[in-house]
Amino acid sequence: MTQRQLTFAANWKMNHGPAETRAFAERFLALTTPVEGRRLWFFPAAVSIGPMSEAMKSRADVEIGAQNVHWEPKGAYTGGISIPMVTEVGARLTLVGHSERRHLFGETDEQVARKTRAALAAGITPLVCVGETLAERDGGRTEPVILRQTGAVLAALPATDWDRVVLAYEPVWAIGTGKNATPDDAAQVHELIRMALSRNGISARVPILYGGSVNPENVASLLTRPQLDGVLVGGASLTPEGWAEVIDRGSKAKVCPSGGYDLIEG
Ligand code: PEP
Repeated sequence: MTQRQLTFAANWKMNHGPAETRAFAERFLALTTPVEGRRLWFFPAAVSIGPMSEAMKSRADVEIGAQNVHWEPKGAYTGGISIPMVTEVGARLTLVGHSERRHLFGETDEQVARKTRAALAAGITPLVCVGETLAERDGGRTEPVILRQTGAVLAALPATDWDRVVLAYEPVWAIGTGKNATPDDAAQVHELIRMALSRNGISARVPILYGGSVNPENVASLLTRPQLDGVLVGGASLTPEGWAEVIDRGSKAKVCPSGGYDLIEG
């Protein structure tokens, strides 16, 4: 049976500067210990990537990422931040195409594809987000939107690169709203994404996370679905206690005693 690691990813958005990040890290380290088959990812604000990487260097199960990067390594892009800059301070991952980047900052499918390619070329893992808006869902357009967003990345990468890509399904209507997708809603879209990947001959090993108002109360029911390989969490990841609880409850729902966990193929 194929196994993928269970991933808990924290997107801090525009919260926690360096001092708050160090205080979070100290408390979080005291609350958690590594678990085989589980990885913990943090996406702090750009100025806090260095402090978080430094604070977490004793933890092999933790990796730090950027929330956004430019595809060019340097140049006249005021306010931009490049992949070499974030890797220099410890980032090994980057979010790409988060809905707030797509919808508040006008990021296009083409830019998402360019950033994904640039991340892979630089040797960091892109966590590529896809998701439909409420109007799209209500208009019955979830499937074409998800297939279009996934397809833009599929078209930009050779199949061999997909070993290093992670996807997140984040319905826009569920992000920061307190309305999360039901486990059935989430599982259905995860299956759709996996079908799109398999049609293109891409490995069943690509992890697909779910994001959108995940919290300690709902994480276990979401993660019992075999289609979900982890969660991407904003609001509920902002306190060390709350985030440790999400991780703990989610892990109990998923991880096998032998480490890793079983999943359906295809
Ligand atoms: C996110 O920022 O990716 C997210 C899912 O946020 P929240 O958990 O707050 O909905």
